[in-house]
Amino acid sequence: MEEQKKRMVTGDRPTGRLHIGHYFGSLKTRLEMQNSGKYDPYILIADVQALTDNFNNPEKVRNNVKEVVMDYLSVGIDPEKTTIYIQSMIPETAELTVFYSNLVTIARLERNPTVKTEIAQKKELFGESVTYGFLGYPVSQAADITVVDGAVVPVGEDQLPLIEQCREIVRKFNSIYGETLKEPEAILSEYKRIKGLDGNEKMGKSLGNAIYLADTEEEVSKKIMSAVTDPQRIKKDDLGHPDVCMVAYYHKLFSTKEEVECVCEECKAGKRGCVACKKQLAQNVNNFLSPIREKRKYYEEHPELVEKILKEGTEKTRQTAKQTMEKVKKAMKLDY
Ligand code: SF4
Repeated sequence: MEEQKKRMVTGDRPTGRLHIGHYFGSLKTRLEMQNSGKYDPYILIADVQALTDNFNNPEKVRNNVKEVVMDYLSVGIDPEKTTIYIQSMIPETAELTVFYSNLVTIARLERNPTVKTEIAQKKELFGESVTYGFLGYPVSQAADITVVDGAVVPVGEDQLPLIEQCREIVRKFNSIYGETLKEPEAILSEYKRIKGLDGNEKMGKSLGNAIYLADTEEEVSKKIMSAVTDPQRIKKDDLGHPDVCMVAYYHKLFSTKEEVECVCEECKAGKRGCVACKKQLAQNVNNFLSPIREKRKYYEEHPELVEKILKEGTEKTRQTAKQTMEKVKKAMKLDY
């Protein structure tokens, strides 16, 4: 008998194109899970969640929905295996969020470490007081997961408190209204956050330190040429420290084991020039991105395919969401 596939739910806020940090941070895990055949993957384009901290910039969110989908498709997310859908097109999620909002206290949300960190990072937007929508996004995220009957959620360590919050809401719902919903499990992604080309722990557009999946060869080369290297190395024969160099760091992601060994040995011995080292890295990154760019170009030239994928994924998700809401409303005695 065929083993039942576990439904995996994950997503991204469409606030910009995806970069290689996203690739190593979450896309690679999703691809592996998709291709393992053990999961039934659902990926949501979290446009409503993106508005929680971009409510004053709806164009930014709207313009990035298809960009993110094209990034997914270009790296190998396969719509035959993975359901891709738009969050705002599933109104059942908003309805479920309202029901869940009675099951969680404001104090509990304020204590959520992920929310606390994000609020601190968004001081510029919120000032001293955060919006109700942003504070409550873990509640809508719980609805995102459970409305499609999600069983597993791949996350980085910093996202674990969000899944714990979701599990608490499910337990509370089931204890009050009867066993109705499934408690999702978090699967810890083994890939770490990738540093920016400038050595910053975070990679992003505002920091100007990211290589995007859709970058051209020229853009990639230009960015790598300005990457931060060992500051103590002035001349080629100065003995280098590859452990403090971002070029060496990126070689470890994109070059072969032999190449990395050679980079480190030659750098330490003062036998390698930084320009040649960067050129070699740019070549390897471009080789990696080349098939991704090609696939992306195909979808850019066929926008109707992207629309069809989103339409079909959204319709399929809606059916699942409707079934969940029937169960939820029955349990809550709202089945008029
Ligand atoms: Fe970095 Fe390469 Fe220069 Fe060494 S030779 S400092 S690894 S760029």
